[in-house]
Amino acid sequence: MQIAIIGSGYVGLVSGACFADFGHFVTCVDLDEQKITSLAAGKIPIFEPGLDNLVASNAEAGRLKFSTGLDAAVAEADVVFVAVGTPSRRGDGHADLSYVHAAARSIATALRGFTLVVTKSTVPVGTGDAVERIIAETNPGANFCVVSNPEFLREGAAIADFKRPDRIIIGIEDERAREVMAEVYRPLFLNQSPLLFVSRRSAELIKYAANSFLAMKIAFINEMADLCEAVDANVQDVARGIGLDGRIGAKFLNAGPGFGGSCFPKDTLALVKTAQEYGSPMRLVETTVAVNDERKRGMAQKVIAVCGGDVRGKTIAILGLTFKPNTDDLRESPSIAIISALQQAGASVRAFDPHGLDGARSIFSDVAFGADAYDAASGADALVIVTEWDTFRALDFGRLKQVMVAPVVVDLRNIYRGAELARHGFAYRSVGRPSEDREASLQAGREGRQ
Ligand code: NAD
Repeated sequence: MQIAIIGSGYVGLVSGACFADFGHFVTCVDLDEQKITSLAAGKIPIFEPGLDNLVASNAEAGRLKFSTGLDAAVAEADVVFVAVGTPSRRGDGHADLSYVHAAARSIATALRGFTLVVTKSTVPVGTGDAVERIIAETNPGANFCVVSNPEFLREGAAIADFKRPDRIIIGIEDERAREVMAEVYRPLFLNQSPLLFVSRRSAELIKYAANSFLAMKIAFINEMADLCEAVDANVQDVARGIGLDGRIGAKFLNAGPGFGGSCFPKDTLALVKTAQEYGSPMRLVETTVAVNDERKRGMAQKVIAVCGGDVRGKTIAILGLTFKPNTDDLRESPSIAIISALQQAGASVRAFDPHGLDGARSIFSDVAFGADAYDAASGADALVIVTEWDTFRALDFGRLKQVMVAPVVVDLRNIYRGAELARHGFAYRSVGRPSEDREASLQAGREGRQ
């Protein structure tokens, strides 16, 4: 099967490489010439574990090509996937559909023979109808169907998610699309990944419902973490206690600095806007957005409090800038709001991230980037763990103590234990766990009982 992917970012590139690995012939198209030139030269412009090998092996096998020429790729395709960005529209929070609409116009004039145009981008309900209208108006003779096939991959685990998805959602309005889409995903039948055929509008909404529900879970456990701190309870125990209930599930119950990334913030906001527009407001999602915005700023206050209520003239070291580990994506990362609030409060910031530094240089100003965690911590009055990269999970606290001005750690991902840090002579604060003194006395109590 011949496939064209329009937009070769995180989703387009991973989808293209995986489809090629299934045995299809794929051309990944992008407007960005630099991106296409580096891809054609075997350089992957993003960090995603395993993607370099997957791209290289499929390019070598002749199943994966890269091009800025949309026309040729679309003309020979049986299926055209649209995987362009749908960021928040400046000013109102609606999804900006200008890239999707522009892609639809370009695709329309290039179509040859019966072709499926499949939206993989996350798009508000009704976008498939608009894409269909644009193509029909631009090229009245075109023979096509518009399908919705939202993507659920997670950055950092994108290939595994794409190849072994929990489910594949396919929204169709024309029965001719069913068989073609089944053929596209046929290799996944072996993994028994369920293919769920629904209406196009339902498919579009499923994506927003899924992301908003997960975002709500995170916002919930973060508020629970605040309550745990107030009552000296442990949010990790609470999360485990509720997560073992099959109706709730254990995932997305890690308290932390608030959700970020290229999806949850913009998708929750876009769903809020859609719901308002249709006169059916979603109060829970509205609150989730507000709680999360507040949380990121609140994390900076937590750091300031640990530093005695004033960070003027102090140096804060930040470990982890990306919105989660195993990606170089910094979009809407909590680190952005935290660093900006700390700087506004008068702190100097030093930072390190294993894969986010290139992107970080264009986002942050007045931040000194260290060569590693210890370099970033050098001369710092406090060290803040914002992203739980593996490399931060076994820090040498003896070495950190030597390079820091004051032994203070704020662990916003709960990867350490207070008692462990206390042994190294560090003051330690985490998220939603009993204060150090209480934890130490609990530990002493446990040891006394043994
Ligand atoms: P991205 O910004 O990384 O990539 C989009 C690419 O599309 C860019 O390279 C851009 O140059 C290209 N592009 C824009 N207009 C084009 C056109 N007319 N022709 C050719 N190329 C064009 O975006 P992304 O993170 O891959 O996200 C794409 C979509 O998938 C979004 O709607 C997003 O919400 C959704 N999504 C993203 C993820 C994720 O983890 N990143 C997961 C699921 C769904």
